[in-house]
Amino acid sequence: MNQSMPIEPVRKPTPMLSQTTTSDAKNYDEDLKMIQDKQKEFDGILKTLVTRMETLGATVTSLDSTVVQLNNKIDQQQQYLEQMIDGRIHAFEQNIEMLQDELNNWMNLDLNIFFSLKMMNKIAYSYIDEHLISPSLICPICLEVLEDPHTHTPCDSAFCRSCLLQLSEPFCPICRWTWDDTIPLQYNIHLPKANRLIRNMLDDLLVQCIYCHTVRRRGQFEHECQSAEERLVRNDIQIIPRKTLGHFQMILYILGTVIFLLCIYYYQKYIFEKVIDHRNEIIKDIGYNIDYFLLENIYYLIRKIVEYSMTIFIMSICFWFSIIFFGDRFTSRKNSRILKTLLETSIIINLIAYSVSN
Ligand SMILES: [Zn+2]
Ligand SMILES: [Zn+2]
Ligand SMILES: [Zn+2]
Repeated sequence: MNQSMPIEPVRKPTPMLSQTTTSDAKNYDEDLKMIQDKQKEFDGILKTLVTRMETLGATVTSLDSTVVQLNNKIDQQQQYLEQMIDGRIHAFEQNIEMLQDELNNWMNLDLNIFFSLKMMNKIAYSYIDEHLISPSLICPICLEVLEDPHTHTPCDSAFCRSCLLQLSEPFCPICRWTWDDTIPLQYNIHLPKANRLIRNMLDDLLVQCIYCHTVRRRGQFEHECQSAEERLVRNDIQIIPRKTLGHFQMILYILGTVIFLLCIYYYQKYIFEKVIDHRNEIIKDIGYNIDYFLLENIYYLIRKIVEYSMTIFIMSICFWFSIIFFGDRFTSRKNSRILKTLLETSIIINLIAYSVSN
């Protein structure tokens, strides 16, 4: 529609052409030509305008498409970010779960160690004449001799405290009566400690230590026959082996003593040199007189003191090594006291002998 509109004014002047003069006609022709040229020019401009419009439209559509693309990209990014954050949160949650599992495992391990230690204490003795033990002292749950017995008052039967605590349901295995397991055992009036007679009978049972084989009454079984450390090693619970620790300690001791000896050697040398220098200075100043004699004596005394301290030091090193190699078998309190008095008397005798000889 817009393209056909400008052509109409060109047709209008044609009916008036016959009535005009030749010059007018010529002018008219020129005008017409000019108008036609203008028309063409205008058409050209219009065309370029149209093409411009088209290109503009195209760019607008392309812009639209880019906007859509950008929107898509933004959406994608958002989705990606959301997924990533979700993934991170999920991973974090998984980590927390893993940590919790680990913690639970550790707790269980600790409990296991605790229970195994308890079990170790429990099986640290065996009963003498087990077949003669009265059936009334046997726990109906574990079928072993009662440990820390509690009585179920409705049926008057005794169970180990640990067996009662390990029951999955709060049912008495003898009379099937139930109790409130939310109350701690020591406050449950239906499950008091077994009466004194039963406990005394249990305490009077003869047991034998499985390590040192001494026979005692169960009530007085507690004794120190073997270090807990060795028992732990026997039960394969990992601790640092004693042997490697011993070697490491020995190397450290030897290094320490070598350094100490070197220090003493150099210190002694330094002191002696200083004393000798000082003496030489005095001799230079005063000449040979009574000071020289005194200085000689002081020098001798210092040497003696150093010698004594060295002997004491060497003896203590010997003690050290004897302890390292033989344990503390030779270093009881009595032995060390005797050795100390021996050393002291020897020093005193030496000093007296020295003073008398002068
Ligand atoms: Zn019962
Ligand atoms: Zn039991
Ligand atoms: Zn023992």
